[in-house]
Amino acid sequence: MSLRIGVLGGGQLGRMMALAGYPLNLSFSFFDRASDCPSAALGPRFGDDTDSAESLQAFIDSADVFTYEFENIPTAWVNTIAAQKPVFPSVKSLAISQNRLNEKKLFAELNIPSARFAAIEAADDLKQAIQALGLPLVIKTVTDGYDGKGQFLLRSEDQLSECWNALGAQVPLIAEEFIQFKRELSIIAVRGQQGDTRFYPLAENHHHRGILSHSIVPAPNLDENTQLMAERYISSVLHEMNHVGVLTLELFETRHGLLANETAPRVHNSGHWSIEGAHCSQFENHVRAVAGLPLGSTRAEKPSAMLNIIGRHPNSHEILRVTDTHLHLYGKTERENRKLGHITVIADSYAELNMRISRLADALPNPMALHLSR
Ligand code: AMP
Repeated sequence: MSLRIGVLGGGQLGRMMALAGYPLNLSFSFFDRASDCPSAALGPRFGDDTDSAESLQAFIDSADVFTYEFENIPTAWVNTIAAQKPVFPSVKSLAISQNRLNEKKLFAELNIPSARFAAIEAADDLKQAIQALGLPLVIKTVTDGYDGKGQFLLRSEDQLSECWNALGAQVPLIAEEFIQFKRELSIIAVRGQQGDTRFYPLAENHHHRGILSHSIVPAPNLDENTQLMAERYISSVLHEMNHVGVLTLELFETRHGLLANETAPRVHNSGHWSIEGAHCSQFENHVRAVAGLPLGSTRAEKPSAMLNIIGRHPNSHEILRVTDTHLHLYGKTERENRKLGHITVIADSYAELNMRISRLADALPNPMALHLSR
């Protein structure tokens, strides 16, 4: 009999989990308010009224084991499910990852370097944070932030009231020192139910207007020590959380080494390259972990890249004409800043990869911030 995985959230991440799970004879159900969510065609959907206990119970009854594809969900949902059936990752991973202060405290406990920070409860705390940490500061909401939302770059004291007006209603906030990073990296790992762990190569991530525009993997010009250091950091987070499934750690590479930025207790946009670029994708490895199956190889044989399709759909013919390119569309309608799909591309060398990325970028309707690596 097929094991059914219940996924909290029905976005593109859930959709890609299901696409990876069906060949393993896994089936899926989803908990999402939107009847036209990207996962809707891949299994029964529950949650027309996500606030009702009956709706959640119907979802719990629909599956054998549970996971989530979005961390901004109430921990109460996960606790209710966990009282009846297994949930991976557990509520501990969720509670830490959905709260920036909890994350920072965990990094400190585990001796993982990260930006110095201060908790902000009131307007006066901002002034104290400036005294303690200097300027500029990045002010962020502690919960519910994603794609750069809920953030304010505080450059001078003159902006204090503007900053407070923008974010003060969402306290608690966190003030972080501004990191002069060389580049942004992320590491994705998967941990099975027996504690076995595998790591994907570090991704180099580029953002445009706060949203990931493209990732290059393995991050070019990387010394072996950086990959090992990232693996060491994510291992200690995985172990501390007793995490099962995929976990992502976003990092800043600085002149003095790596600094941890944040974790996501789930498959991640910077890992989409792995669908064609790794032996076993982040989606397949996640569902294998959730289903209690052996993990697959995270090895990447060649450099690969992922480009996000944001806001407007490209012409599929123009994209697929580029050699070794794959197109993944999420079935969404066009809307500004909305992730509609992504492209993966593989090449024998970084030079060839960069040429293909340039051609793909030209075929995308929205300009990307292209800082191509050599
Ligand atoms: P986050 O939501 O924490 O991933 O932040 C979104 C983006 O803001 C990151 O990808 C960075 O480009 C930038 N950012 C976040 N925190 C800092 C920081 N402390 N210093 C400099 N840039 C930051």
